[in-house]
Amino acid sequence: MKSALQTEVARRRTFAIIAHPDAGKTTLTEKLLLFGGAIQLAGEVKAKKDRIQTRSDWMKIERERGISVVTSVMTFEYDGKVFNILDTPGHEDFADDTYRTLTAVDAAVMVIDAAKGIEPRTLKLFEVCRMRDIPIITFVNKMDRESRDPFEILDEVEEKLALDTAPVTWPVGRSKTFCGAYHLANNAFRGSDSQVEATPVNGPQAVAGHLPENERETFIDELELAREACRPFDRQSFLEGHLTPVFFGSALRNFGVRDLINALGDFAPPPRDQQADSRTVHADEERMTAFVFKIQANMDPNHRDRIAFARICSGKLQRGMKARLSRTGKQLGLTAPQFFFASQRQIADTAYAGDVVGIPNHGTLRIGDTLTEGEPLVFHGVPNFAPEILRRVRLGDAMKAKKLKEALQQMAEEGVVQLFVPEDGSPAIVGVVGALQLDVLKERLKQEYGLPVDFEAARFNVCRWIEHEDRAQLEAFMVKHRAAIARDLDGDPVFLAENAFSLNYEAERAPGMVFNEIKDYQ
Ligand code: GDP
Repeated sequence: MKSALQTEVARRRTFAIIAHPDAGKTTLTEKLLLFGGAIQLAGEVKAKKDRIQTRSDWMKIERERGISVVTSVMTFEYDGKVFNILDTPGHEDFADDTYRTLTAVDAAVMVIDAAKGIEPRTLKLFEVCRMRDIPIITFVNKMDRESRDPFEILDEVEEKLALDTAPVTWPVGRSKTFCGAYHLANNAFRGSDSQVEATPVNGPQAVAGHLPENERETFIDELELAREACRPFDRQSFLEGHLTPVFFGSALRNFGVRDLINALGDFAPPPRDQQADSRTVHADEERMTAFVFKIQANMDPNHRDRIAFARICSGKLQRGMKARLSRTGKQLGLTAPQFFFASQRQIADTAYAGDVVGIPNHGTLRIGDTLTEGEPLVFHGVPNFAPEILRRVRLGDAMKAKKLKEALQQMAEEGVVQLFVPEDGSPAIVGVVGALQLDVLKERLKQEYGLPVDFEAARFNVCRWIEHEDRAQLEAFMVKHRAAIARDLDGDPVFLAENAFSLNYEAERAPGMVFNEIKDYQ
């Protein structure tokens, strides 16, 4: 018999949607929430994009450019399962935020535009999922438009991603005649997502009647070929990340979304075990463990609060409980953990492994932090990427240098930018992965701290975390290159170089030195 805890954990599905911009991620999210029963009316998610928000002024950047900077969590319950969708920023300038969010999911839905196939961002996000063996369900969207041949799309996924495909449904009709999806294994047809149960049918002929006469034979032939030539779905292979089940649909016109929800419920894994430094933590252990993968400031303009988004890895989180913060060893009271539903939030009394809660705090929690019920273990693996743009911050008013230092430190703790303090005492350098992050920094420094700043080029353009097995050698390197050494927020040393060439030059002359592009948060 399963315990109550095990039952709760087993019914959770925590996933993200990965897509190239414009493939239909927002529309699909909205429809998942709609058919999952979380929202009454389609349009809410979209409306969130357009609505004039008072949350904070830097969000203007988001509004003006129509991009989503904020990661949020959406939860719905369907057919006895609890689904947590972790939303990620669409713009690649915020890619590091997306990668961190992917550390908190157990599965991903990959949305492909049926006319475009695999696009650059899809590929990149897929690679991150593969690094973490995250199983992927593919949704081929926009079948109501001119699209590529489904076989061609499957081939492209196999070739470009080196991933086996197994079509679970097959599109009935194309563009204007697209009218639903045929479930290959169940021999069932669903004409629209408003239809809760698919209708069992007596073979493809029965469905062909939905198509104009000149398309029927092609459809029947195609279906036969799909059955013969395509791989059947194999759950084990999917869970190991070798095979993706494929669904065809149109999020906009309400096709294929229910099949996708069912697939997430039936195929996608429950909360995975997580590797900590000292041992493997199983999701259905009694004791709570969690890690922070995202910090969001100023979600509420009336309180200067920060919300730390924590993924629960095991056990049960209860409101009011005390947790141990591994980085400091100190206790933290979880007095007001929160759940997020589409656009609202609400106090969470209980949350289970797989869930994501927001923990309000005033700077105690950082990205990568581990929380436990006392055990001194640490989860690693929330990545920090070497910035691609380095800048010095120039402040008009020299009197405010101290305030700027504090502000930058806070921004760095939230993951807005990375901060590097040069060993030679020269002014701090900020690093970002994408230029828009600098716009966000500038706007927030002005609005929240009253610090108008400009950026100027730093002498450096490349940054790597440095290590050496032999401490003495590391120190010798740091002394020798003092003007090019800085420390990050955790005090870890980085080497700054003008360009890739000079980095290689120094690397070749320093045997045993390791120059890392990625650092795990502690
Ligand atoms: P995102 O950038 O991936 O979040 O994409 P959106 O959901 O914002 O969609 C981009 C555009 O494609 C919007 O104009 C949508 O209305 C449109 N769109 C999304 N899904 C479909 C679909 O299934 N069919 C058609 N024809 N258009 C769609």
